[in-house]
Amino acid sequence: MFNLQNFVRENVKKLMPYSSARDEFSGVGSVFLDANENPNENGVNRYPDPLQKDLKKKIGEIKGVNSDHLILGNGSDEIIDLLFRAFCEPNEDNVVICTPTYGMYEVAAGVNAIQIKAVQLDENFQPDVNAVLQAANANSKMLFLCSPNNPSGNLLEESKVEQLLKEFNGIVIVDEAYVDFAPGKSLADKIADYPNLVILQTLSKAWGMAGIRLGIGLASTEIIEILNRIKPPYNVNSLTQQKAFEMMNREIFTNQLNEILLEREELSKILADLSFVEKLYSSDANFILVKVKDAKDLYYYLMKRGIIIRDRSKIKGLEQCVRISIGTKSENEVLCKALQAYDSNL
Ligand SMILES: *Cc1c(COP(=O)(O)O)cnc(C)c1O
Repeated sequence: MFNLQNFVRENVKKLMPYSSARDEFSGVGSVFLDANENPNENGVNRYPDPLQKDLKKKIGEIKGVNSDHLILGNGSDEIIDLLFRAFCEPNEDNVVICTPTYGMYEVAAGVNAIQIKAVQLDENFQPDVNAVLQAANANSKMLFLCSPNNPSGNLLEESKVEQLLKEFNGIVIVDEAYVDFAPGKSLADKIADYPNLVILQTLSKAWGMAGIRLGIGLASTEIIEILNRIKPPYNVNSLTQQKAFEMMNREIFTNQLNEILLEREELSKILADLSFVEKLYSSDANFILVKVKDAKDLYYYLMKRGIIIRDRSKIKGLEQCVRISIGTKSENEVLCKALQAYDSNL
C-alpha cells in the first residue's frame, strides 16, 4: 500500500506554514487593516487570495474535479519545483525521467540538489516500463512522465502509464501540458484511483495564456495539502487570477484548438512531401518533430527569413531533429513556402 507520509521530507512534515493575513481572515469585512496594505483602491492594492478560491472553482468545473484536488502555481514550472521541495531530500534522493523530454525536470532537480536517473524512451518514444522500474532504487522519490511528450509530440500509452503508476514506488507526475491537443482524455479522472498520481496542466499552451504564468496541479487532497503548506503564500498574483478567470472561455478555446489542429494536419501534409524530411513523427500536441537531412542548415535557412523553429538535434535520440510549433494559418503559409523553397534549392 502506498503511504504518502513515507515520501514527505522530514522538514516539511514538521513545517508550520507561514500564515498570511488573508489566510487568517477570509470572511466578509469592510475595513481591512490586517495586512499593512495601502488602503487606496487601485485594483491591485490588496494582496491576492492565497488559495485562489474563485479561480479554482472555475478551473475545477472545466476539468471536472473538486477545488480541493487543485493547486495553482506560477506556471507548472513552479509546481515542479514545489514537488521536489516536498518529496526529495537534497543530496540524497533521486528522480527518474524518460528522455528525451521537457528540460525543466532536470533543471529543477539540479536546483534542489537531486540526482536524475534518465531512462531513454524507445524508438517510438514510449517508456520501457521494466527499464524505468529497474532504474529506480529506494531513494527514487518521483517519476516524471510527459504525455504528450515534449519534444517528441506523442502521447504515452495509457497502459504503460498505468502500469508505472501501480508499480513505481513513489510519486508519479504525469505532465499533460499538451493534453488538450491530444485525442483521448486526461488522466484527471484517475486521481481517486492512484494516491501517488500528480497531473500537471497549464494555461500556457492551448489556453493561450503563457504570459500570465498559471500552472495547474491535480492530485489527492493529501498531496495538495502538502504542496499548499510549502508554497509561497501569494504565488499567483491578482492580475493573473483575474485574467485567467476572464479568459477561460470554452468557445474561444475550442475554436482556436480546432484551428490549430487543422493547421497541424496541413503542415504535416506539406512536410511529408519534402525530400529533405527523413522522418515525420506523428503529433498529439501543437508542434511537430521532424527529422531532416541537416537540422542546423534548415534552422539557419529559416532564421534568415525571420522564421524561428527549435533545433533539437544536439539531444540524444533527436539527431537531426527540429521541433516546429503550429502557428496561425498565415504563419503556416509563410513557413510552408519557405520549406518548399529550401527543398527546391537543395
Ligand atoms: C510548456 C510546458 C509546460 C508549461 O509550463 P508553464 O510553466 O505552465 O508555462 C510544462 N510542461 C511541459 C512538458 C511543457 O512543454
